[in-house]
Order: sequence, then C-alpha cells, then structure tokens
Amino acid sequence: MKVDAEALGKRIAQRYLLRGLRPNLRELAAQLGVQIIVQDHPPQAQPGLRAEYRHEPPQILLYRDPLELLSGALHANQRFDLLACNLEDVHLAHELFHHLEFGGTFGPLRPDEIETGAHAFAQTLCDLTFHPAELADL
Ligand SMILES: [Zn+2]
Repeated sequence: MKVDAEALGKRIAQRYLLRGLRPNLRELAAQLGVQIIVQDHPPQAQPGLRAEYRHEPPQILLYRDPLELLSGALHANQRFDLLACNLEDVHLAHELFHHLEFGGTFGPLRPDEIETGAHAFAQTLCDLTFHPAELADL
C-alpha cells in the first residue's frame, strides 16, 4: 500500500497546533523529552549538515555555521520568501518529526517517505508559505 507521507506529516503536525497557533518548538521539544543542543560545527564527515536527530538519548543537534551559511545564501540570492521564517525552527520541526517517527510509530516508511513526512510536518507546524524541501536543496 502506498503511503501518503505528505498528508501524514501534515496530520501529525495538526496535533501540535494549539487552536491553530504555532507552538513554541523549544517547549514542545522539552515536553517530548528531546534535548536541543546547539553547536557551531557539524561533524567533519558531514560539513553541510545543518541539523540532526539522535535517539540515545533523544537529542536534536543544530549546527550554527551551516545555518548561517544558508541564511547568507538566501540573502545573497534575494530569496526573501524563504527567509520569512525562523530557519532554526524549521530545522527543529523537521528533526522533531524524526523523533516522533522513530521506531516506526506511523507504520513502515521508506527513508524518502520519512523525509517527505518531516518536510510536510515542518511546513505545517511552522506555517510556511514555501515547501521546506526548497531549503534542503540549497
Ligand atoms: Zn530528515
């Protein structure tokens, strides 16, 4: 059976919208037992990595340098449409989906379906007017 990962991500995000309002993602992460760690540099093997989820213990790592590079690239390219968001929050929301999905919570999903779901989750949770895959491709 084909999974509509886009619809799944949006549906899960709806659970965390409070009367249609965006939650504070740092508070949400804390409620879900996920620690947020901000570091300057990603691991050397993955220099472009902006954020990642690790499960033991549940952690989201945000990497400041690549996030700032992204912000700089968006400014340089005058992509103000993509700058109309908090880049850290978008990445945080994406990784929160990986936490929620961990262990196959939403049924068996292929890696590409998980990514689709995480993007849709972030788009809904952060109320983005663009698709966050646009950021991933930059
Ligand atoms: Zn992902």
